[in-house]
Amino acid sequence: MSVSAVAADRSVCAPLPVLGRDVLVPLVTGGEVDYAALDYAASAPALQRVWDDVAAYAPYYGSVHRGAGYLSQLSTDLFENSRATIAKFLGCGRREGDQVVFTRSTTDSLNLLAAVLPQNTRVFVFETEHHASLLPWEQRPDTAVTYLNAPRTPQQAVDTLEKALAEREPYGPALVCVTGASNVTGELWPVRELAAAAHAHGARIVLDAAQLAPHHPVDIAELDVDWVAFSGHKLYAPFGAGVLAGRADWLQAAEPYLAGGGASRKVSRRTDGGVDVEWHTTAARHEAGSPNVIGAYAIASACQALTEAGFDGLVAREQELIARVREGLAEVPEVNVLSLFGDDAPRVGVLSFVVEGWNSSHFAAALSAEYGIGVRDGLFCAHPLVRTLLGSEPQEPGECGAPETAPGERSLNAIRVSFGAGTPDEHVERFVRAVKELVADGARWNYRTEDGRCVPDTSA
Ligand code: PLP
Repeated sequence: MSVSAVAADRSVCAPLPVLGRDVLVPLVTGGEVDYAALDYAASAPALQRVWDDVAAYAPYYGSVHRGAGYLSQLSTDLFENSRATIAKFLGCGRREGDQVVFTRSTTDSLNLLAAVLPQNTRVFVFETEHHASLLPWEQRPDTAVTYLNAPRTPQQAVDTLEKALAEREPYGPALVCVTGASNVTGELWPVRELAAAAHAHGARIVLDAAQLAPHHPVDIAELDVDWVAFSGHKLYAPFGAGVLAGRADWLQAAEPYLAGGGASRKVSRRTDGGVDVEWHTTAARHEAGSPNVIGAYAIASACQALTEAGFDGLVAREQELIARVREGLAEVPEVNVLSLFGDDAPRVGVLSFVVEGWNSSHFAAALSAEYGIGVRDGLFCAHPLVRTLLGSEPQEPGECGAPETAPGERSLNAIRVSFGAGTPDEHVERFVRAVKELVADGARWNYRTEDGRCVPDTSA
């Protein structure tokens, strides 16, 4: 959607209040500027609403599932109500037998799912995935993993999966793992179609919604995926919790992810001296140890805040910001935006690029030091995807003090800018201006490598 079309759309909402919006950071060139957090894809700032909810609860904080005291009971209710809120947010419950399990993060959620796969499960995963969804499956020696090549269109993704599933039939249990929105290109994957392909071949599908959930409604029943995984800290709720939601059967048939209190219902000594354990058959089976009640509540609060703000308006506003960034970068011929699916692909506010003649670490350091803009440089824990997009081979990262790539040469890593519900217009405007100035005039400061990071050289 073009900027003007979005501007004419009255449903665009204002940025949601987030923490850190008034934080001033020093510029190497002198003075201070308010920090432009444009690394939402790594960790988004906390929503003010989430922070306020957590602060209001903090005095009432108590042990969960264990205590007889008033605050313990209150905390237990809050924890379980948070589970119910998140279940509703994800559309669980419209399908019988879905569960919400609290984890530490998306990585933890997908490792949990890998741990509970039935014996000899066959897993299908695109090489383009974030390492969190690419790597957990081979941890189980009985799991056969098929890595699928990067598709260049959404339809090719569906066709590639269909073909891979069909070629390997017959198989027993099978799982497809796919990301909803790429953490590198921001492009949306055809989740519904991939789910239909998986199910048509008797496979199940888990959706890595780490980058999708903060930007779009994720309805497990409507997408017809078997599980959804996401992280609180990318959903404006940075208190160390994540979620794996979906079908209970594989989870309940498997041994607990962690053995300990909370997961066990009954423990008794056997006459032969050993120990018998009856494990819970609810979500608690995989939540051993004292639960992160604040993390769970923060996620529930974020789900409620996003729902109340209205995803239609949030999406419309984000599309406006995306259009501004893309239109701005398109005016700089030296900038090459990375894309698998092309310009017209629907996307979220995550965009990676390289700048001809610039080392990406150097460029990102200059955005920070000279403009107060926080982006990310590197391969974004999606090494195969970024290398495919850059056309480069695996190698050690280079020094950043001087541009390591001559004009016309390929960069070895990329720069990622990402934003969301809390981003004001000024941040993306400053970003576009900064890119244009750096490309036209060069950095105003010298940079060197320190502990593997590119930093302004202040030794002179
Ligand atoms: N999946 C995707 C698509 C991601 O972008 C990320 C993090 O960047 C993860 C999974 C892992 O998330 P976490 O680090 O919160 O476990």
